[in-house]
Amino acid sequence: QQILELLKQEIPQIEYDRYIKQLRYDEEASRSDIAIFYAPNPLIARWVKTRYGEKISHLFEIKTGVKPQVVVEIKSPKKKSVTSKGGELSEIGTSKPSSKSTILNPSYTFESFVVGSSNQFAYTAAQRVAEKPGELYNPLFIYGGAGLGKTHLLHAIGNFNLARGRQVIFTSLEQFMNQFTHHLRNHTMDRFRDKYRSCDILLLDDIQFLSRKEETQKELFHTFNELHGAGKQIVMTSDQHPKKIAGLEERLRSRFEWGLIVDIQPPELETKIAIIKKKCELNGIHLDNDIVNYIAANMGNNIREIEGIIIQLNAFANMMNQNITLDFAKNVVKNQLKERSENITIDDIVKVVSKELNVKPSEIKSKSRSKNIVAARRIVIYLARSLTPNSMPSLAQYFGMKDHTAVSHAMKKINEMIDSDETFKAKIEELSHKITSATNE
Ligand code: ADP
Ligand code: MG
Repeated sequence: QQILELLKQEIPQIEYDRYIKQLRYDEEASRSDIAIFYAPNPLIARWVKTRYGEKISHLFEIKTGVKPQVVVEIKSPKKKSVTSKGGELSEIGTSKPSSKSTILNPSYTFESFVVGSSNQFAYTAAQRVAEKPGELYNPLFIYGGAGLGKTHLLHAIGNFNLARGRQVIFTSLEQFMNQFTHHLRNHTMDRFRDKYRSCDILLLDDIQFLSRKEETQKELFHTFNELHGAGKQIVMTSDQHPKKIAGLEERLRSRFEWGLIVDIQPPELETKIAIIKKKCELNGIHLDNDIVNYIAANMGNNIREIEGIIIQLNAFANMMNQNITLDFAKNVVKNQLKERSENITIDDIVKVVSKELNVKPSEIKSKSRSKNIVAARRIVIYLARSLTPNSMPSLAQYFGMKDHTAVSHAMKKINEMIDSDETFKAKIEELSHKITSATNE
């Protein structure tokens, strides 16, 4: 309450009334290092988290001396929280401190997921696994880029099975790891193992964070064997194929490949349009078709970012008591894109290009004249010119070149190739997209 009072003094009254007032603080579940709030819907949750998460955390620090992680969960005030059978063992929907990691978002269901050719395979696999856990593909491994719906599908499997009385554990790999270290330190590994090895379905999100975490990998290996051996379902997500997760033990990797591996591709335009319409419908927001189309065509493929735009548009329109016009939407989208490119550095570009073209970052920055390295370096220069505010001289300096003529030569070469080669052009666009989305995760 004190913290909300402080916040009230710092932010516009209208935003306080519209968003902050709707939050409920979960005193029981929060700890000094984690502050949990409930918001009545995903839009408010996201708005609060992005606009005020840092501020709230800072205010806590002022009051308590500890800076907590601020978590905003979604819980509609009417509905009771989801609770699965099994009391103590299942941590879903209970209000114990350790429970927050396993709360499922009730709005992430199969029904609220828009299916298109980019995600059809993953969707169908998820649905079949949800219907017959442990019987079909075990594990199911879903991978794909940021904001493409992996976590949504994981929750959908969880919600589906929770409604059927099965014990579901949803956890991000990071939470799994944190809990593991916590129990290890407190000599309570029995409890940790009881919990993870007694569920019917284990949903593990963002498994790529296993990379080089040897102890956690070992523990997960045993958890996996125990569950798999007992015919329990395991579903995992990652931003990459198991083969591409660096520093992953071979025995885990091979297990991840035992079942079915499916990917989610960036959505096509029609799917994006359908998703935007669905989100508007679910949140009671009206956007004209030309606005929906404009957002879909200009905002890239990260659905999370697209949702962010919808939230902003709606919030501004509410605040100013105005309808959302196309011009207004264009402005908001442009600002967002501008903000995005301001965050990109040359190093980000080098990182993505070197990975995609299979050369080392150090080689790109070296003076090597070998053909593929020169090509990669030129692409970096071209992308840095279009995605960052760096001038030609500052790029020359970055690459240790004598002056900007080498930079302008590189630009000329790439421009020629883009004009003459459609495939190359597409490749550059793809790289550019990868860079902007990687920087925005
Ligand atoms: P990921 O885990 O792949 O990064 P999320 O599952 O968190 O992505 O999705 C980001 C947001 O986009 C979520 O709010 C999710 O509901 C939404 N989303 C993504 N794909 C779809 C889809 N096909 N239909 C409806 N919503 C989607
Ligand atoms: Mg996710």
